[in-house]
Amino acid sequence: MKREPKLKWIERSQVPDHQWRDWSWQWAYRLTEAAQIGAVFDLDAEQIAQIEETARRFRVAITPYYADLIHRTGRPAALWKQVIPDPAELDDDPRLSLDPLSEQRDSLVKGLVHRYTDRVLLLLTDRCAVYCRHCNRRRLASGSEHDRTPIEVELWLRYLRDHKQVREVILSGGDPLSWSDERLNKLLTKLRQIAHLEIIRFGTRLPVVLPFRITDDFCKMLKRHQPVYLNIHINHPLELTIELHEACWKLADSGIPLGSQTVLLKGVNDDGAILQELFRGLLKMRVKPYCLYHPDPVQGTAHLRTSIQKGLDIMDFLIANTSGLALPHYVVDAPDGKGKIPLQNPRHTQGSEGVTVLKPFSGGAAPYDDGEA
Ligand SMILES: *Cc1c(COP(=O)(O)O)cnc(C)c1O
Repeated sequence: MKREPKLKWIERSQVPDHQWRDWSWQWAYRLTEAAQIGAVFDLDAEQIAQIEETARRFRVAITPYYADLIHRTGRPAALWKQVIPDPAELDDDPRLSLDPLSEQRDSLVKGLVHRYTDRVLLLLTDRCAVYCRHCNRRRLASGSEHDRTPIEVELWLRYLRDHKQVREVILSGGDPLSWSDERLNKLLTKLRQIAHLEIIRFGTRLPVVLPFRITDDFCKMLKRHQPVYLNIHINHPLELTIELHEACWKLADSGIPLGSQTVLLKGVNDDGAILQELFRGLLKMRVKPYCLYHPDPVQGTAHLRTSIQKGLDIMDFLIANTSGLALPHYVVDAPDGKGKIPLQNPRHTQGSEGVTVLKPFSGGAAPYDDGEA
């Protein structure tokens, strides 16, 4: 779709509903230039120049839908910090890296990361509808946007056919839902011809930043390739909109089990009450909170990072006060590709022989007989 030159701002009220809800229209009209963002959010020349400089290092894009959400909710820092470039991103911090999880090393075939025995991560593209400022694959989000070529996809399929221990593929990126239905259908069809692949999992942020991507046709297509799981990257209760609700119910009605992935971010969601509201809200949208990730040490994100102790305290609050259904795992990805590790404050100590001393959330101690004769 061709974009008008010098587009300033698209008021929700000026766009016919069918167009607003057309995902390719939303995609074509993303805000991708500092000047546009400046015009939309009334920024001064210095702020615009800063965004321009930051965006040269890490791409910027915001859908009209998400920009409208920021407007509607009164520009809360929690949404702002996730998508608007911050000059702090340019600070070089020796503790941070561009590929903190050493994904490149575990990638023998381009775009395929095989770290855990039974599952493989496929990076379909480096394109996203919105470029999150906390992205942990920032190495893919600079320069121009690229997609996998058909030859690269063929190499994946060959790898997957040859590795019979792989039971699951995780389609990620970039955002895998940036591919058209037709292209996804072709890939899923080929994956389904590999008998030992049991589970197909998507990791996507589009239901949150471009919920209109979840069309009836898309759901119908996914349904043909069951079992398909879909995990949604969401970080704040303000992102729980009616549009997201519609998208999730459509997917759930099509038999797609939904999970969520949340990144713990300073000044965005590092607060027990906020996360409790998010996880409870997700359950109502038929999304099972799956993981709360400790932020990876990615270059350009120092200003969004928080401590593991903070995360543990938040999890204690959640565990003590929230339905077990609404609780995600709190997970940190160890450096150098050593993999994900679940974190939780120990709620027990070793007592005398055969006794474990439990520490209930209500306080005190509860000695527990281990039960071995
Ligand atoms: C996170 C991740 C997975 C998926 O891990 P789960 O614990 O199954 O969610 C798979 N491969 C790589 C390389 C990952 O980083």
